[in-house]
Amino acid sequence: MTTPNPKRILVAVDGLSSCGKSTFARAIAAELGYLYIDSGAMYRAVTLALLRAGIHDPASLSVNEMEEFLRQHLVGFTAPTAMQQPQVTLDRTPLGDEIRHPDVAAMVSQVAAIPVVRTRLVATQQALGAQGGVTMDGRDIGQVVFPQAEVKIFMTARPEVRAQRRYDEMVSKGLPADYQQILDNLNERDYIDQHRECNPMRPAPDAIILDNSSMTPAEQLEFIRPYLRQALSQG
Ligand code: C5P
Repeated sequence: MTTPNPKRILVAVDGLSSCGKSTFARAIAAELGYLYIDSGAMYRAVTLALLRAGIHDPASLSVNEMEEFLRQHLVGFTAPTAMQQPQVTLDRTPLGDEIRHPDVAAMVSQVAAIPVVRTRLVATQQALGAQGGVTMDGRDIGQVVFPQAEVKIFMTARPEVRAQRRYDEMVSKGLPADYQQILDNLNERDYIDQHRECNPMRPAPDAIILDNSSMTPAEQLEFIRPYLRQALSQG
């Protein structure tokens, strides 16, 4: 039996859309016995709340209106049992695959580009990681949310590979899926995420770059293990 390592590090997994970040971050969290937090789910939850309120143009809200909207629609996490990873909630109700719907995917990057939305969600993400022992995936985790993270990974893969993976995932969940629409959407989201003024997506200077176009999930874990071991062994 191995003794649990008392050092609890932060692992930041950033990268392009549909790169398998959540699968990878989840596997790292399982291996280390850490919490896994999907920060993209929080931006998707705000987007879903806006759509449910009939708001299809997030830029139509003033800064004050958006702040008020965020005060009224709380995004958080809940863990169904101690053995399960936390699930994103909206007004304390756990959300499922509705946050993966194409309507949410089509608007989420516009919502995520709004500074007051980022300020609010980044503060929640930082609170979740305050004790360490967290693996979080997103776009700005290594640069903005946890610049102090001991291990930072930035994932990329060829667009066609990413679109095919997302298509297969949506079909397996019974969600509406169109390959070309998915490819266009992920290219568009990447463009908006990379070019927004507030916290644009880019690798942290000290991030490990991982192109997983032709790697299995097991190979990716194999690749990252030495970095995790090294971070955990450093005083
Ligand atoms: O990770 P996922 O694809 O679910 O994220 C949905 C969207 O949320 C991204 O396209 C991006 O616009 C936004 N996002 C972000 N910063 C994060 C996580 C996600 O801007 N940390």
